[in-house]
Amino acid sequence: MKKLIAGNWKMNGTLESARALATGIVEALHADRDVLERCDFVLCPPFLHLVAVRAIVDGAASPITLGAQDCAATPDGAHTGDISAAMLKDFGCGYVILGHSERRQNHGETNQTIAAKARLAHENGLCVILCVGEKEDERAAGGELDVVENQLVQSLPPTANPENTVVAYEPVWAIGTGKTATPDDVRAMHRFLRRKLGECLAHPDKVRILYGGSVKPDNAAELFRVENVDGALIGGASLKVDQYMAIAHGA
Ligand code: PEP
Repeated sequence: MKKLIAGNWKMNGTLESARALATGIVEALHADRDVLERCDFVLCPPFLHLVAVRAIVDGAASPITLGAQDCAATPDGAHTGDISAAMLKDFGCGYVILGHSERRQNHGETNQTIAAKARLAHENGLCVILCVGEKEDERAAGGELDVVENQLVQSLPPTANPENTVVAYEPVWAIGTGKTATPDDVRAMHRFLRRKLGECLAHPDKVRILYGGSVKPDNAAELFRVENVDGALIGGASLKVDQYMAIAHGA
């Protein structure tokens, strides 16, 4: 399967810098047919920058799909400040990131909330990038498999299938820290996730499992060579055209 190269821009940038970043990536991709044969691309800007980025990446032949960084856990109504899955689909998004550790930590999101969001995303035709990952102390205590299994099993709604679900393994201690899981750790966790996916849905071999956590140009190729690594969810390095493209070349 093609590798998925997903950029999570988080809460960074201005309208102008978002336009410049999207333009740089579109131009780099158009000049590089080879990388398009091997990778699919998703960009997840902040909500307010989606309109500007859509104007740049849009078009039937676009190699880039738009994604959002969250959606609401309820379909519509009196939820000030929320954006629904239906709105994202209507707008033209194909993906939504759910269960990112920053939302679990900063917004108290539980597996149950994430499952409700994921179900609505699926019902509205979005593909969910479901993030799972252990904290440093949980790994130190040898609990990483239990933590990740609970997150996966409890956050995946019954609507999940390989077309509408991507899993991103993101060890929390590796996000934005410059620390990366070793290829052996990634291999073990991705194999485990593949096995657990088999207990949750049909055709688990067709689900893309991404690695995320300080993916950079200099470690991407090594990570992409690990079995069951089907792409990357990239934070910091997705904010620079050359780094994002260099990571794609690692595939
Ligand atoms: C992320 O937040 O999803 C992420 C992987 O960030 P970074 O690449 O900056 O570690």
